[in-house]
Amino acid sequence: LTSGLEAAWTKLKGEDVLTKENIAEPMRDIRRALLEADVSLPVVRRFVQAVSEQAVGVGLIRGVRPDQQLVKIVNDELVKLMGGEVSDLVFAKSGPTVILLAGLQGVGKTTVCAKLAFYLKKLGKSCLLVAGDVYRPAAIDQLSILGEQVGVPVYKEGTDVKPSQIARNGLEEAKKKKIDVVIVDTAGRLQIDKSMMEELKEVKKAVNPTEVLLVVDAMTGQEAAALVTTFNIEIGITGAILTKLDGDSRGGAALSVREVSGKPIKLVGRGERMEDLEPFYPDRMAGRILGMGDVLSFVEKAQEVMKQEDAEELQKKIMSAKFDFNDFLKQTRAVAKMGSMSRVIGMIPGMGKVTPSQIREAEKSLKIMESMINVMTDEEREKPELLAESPTRRKRIASESGKTEQQVSQLVAQLFQMRVRMKNLLGVMEGGSIPALNN
Ligand code: GDP
Ligand code: MG
Repeated sequence: LTSGLEAAWTKLKGEDVLTKENIAEPMRDIRRALLEADVSLPVVRRFVQAVSEQAVGVGLIRGVRPDQQLVKIVNDELVKLMGGEVSDLVFAKSGPTVILLAGLQGVGKTTVCAKLAFYLKKLGKSCLLVAGDVYRPAAIDQLSILGEQVGVPVYKEGTDVKPSQIARNGLEEAKKKKIDVVIVDTAGRLQIDKSMMEELKEVKKAVNPTEVLLVVDAMTGQEAAALVTTFNIEIGITGAILTKLDGDSRGGAALSVREVSGKPIKLVGRGERMEDLEPFYPDRMAGRILGMGDVLSFVEKAQEVMKQEDAEELQKKIMSAKFDFNDFLKQTRAVAKMGSMSRVIGMIPGMGKVTPSQIREAEKSLKIMESMINVMTDEEREKPELLAESPTRRKRIASESGKTEQQVSQLVAQLFQMRVRMKNLLGVMEGGSIPALNN
């Protein structure tokens, strides 16, 4: 998916503004990339539609190119598609929380039982695993071994006892021992079948679980989303756990489950080790799919630092030589804010590399400047000429801000230098003049 999307951006480099025409081909690339990732067609259609609507009309904003902004739009839609926020596990208000795991054979249910216990133990919760897969003695042994591995007790009975009965007894045991979370393993089948669904319904009725999580294999792509939908209709589930994400390079399951089934992915498994289970973060997943973290953070920061309107207004002021101390403060603060992200600065054309010590220096001098500007009258802020002309005013500002007269003079000079520099930067030929300070 990542490489498929890359083609989309490259085609837009050099465009000044995104139009229906010039995004047509990149949108086809995005569409193709999603379909190849095994995202279902209706989801792809809605996605491309949403992105196109936002993209048309996007132009250059403060050095952020339109193609970079498109990356951001696609990212935000991907995050939205996957549910936006992390969907946390829910715990019972009183008594043990019961988590029932369901899913087809071989998807990783038994492994998830142990991984989840390991994960919850780290959150300070005590767990009990319940061996509800009674069809093969090997399944019970597997859970026992894994339980031992993570240091969590396993409740088991014979293969002749009904799973719903074992689950009920397991829950009683947990209540007695004041265990926080009971995780119930169940038997899967190769395909959906009636007896499996009936069994799950019985277990569910017996223990009234807080979470019913369907474990699905990420490598099955949009099939995973279809399964979540079916299980939800049949037994009612609260979410999904996506396993084997480590072997899935396409991302189709992660992208489709929420949109198709309406149920969130709560956790993901990324390997066979016990620590390879983590919450599902839609934003991180989107970032990973796009593989363009640098562009994303650059666009985000630039957007955050200054909105387009602000930039235009500032530009007008500079052109008309009205750039005053209020703008000076705004601009300097914006640059200082940018400075705290030195990595990003390197990406801004014309800014070059900034070292951490330069940033600290800039932040320090910003504080000094702020303290002087703070004690200026509104009139002085708007008409810096007043300060250039009057030593008395500069003296007052120095004493009120606790700075030296020399520092005040420096600040005033800096403002006029900035006017000139910015005018030059904008390519205005006549430039401006720096007034000599009256003594
Ligand atoms: P169950 O039949 O649903 O209980 O599946 P199991 O828990 O027995 O797992 C089946 C196989 O998948 C085992 O060999 C696991 O080690 C493997 N497995 C489970 N989760 C993951 C995962 O996240 N990544 C990888 N690579 N393998 C996994
Ligand atoms: Mg199993």
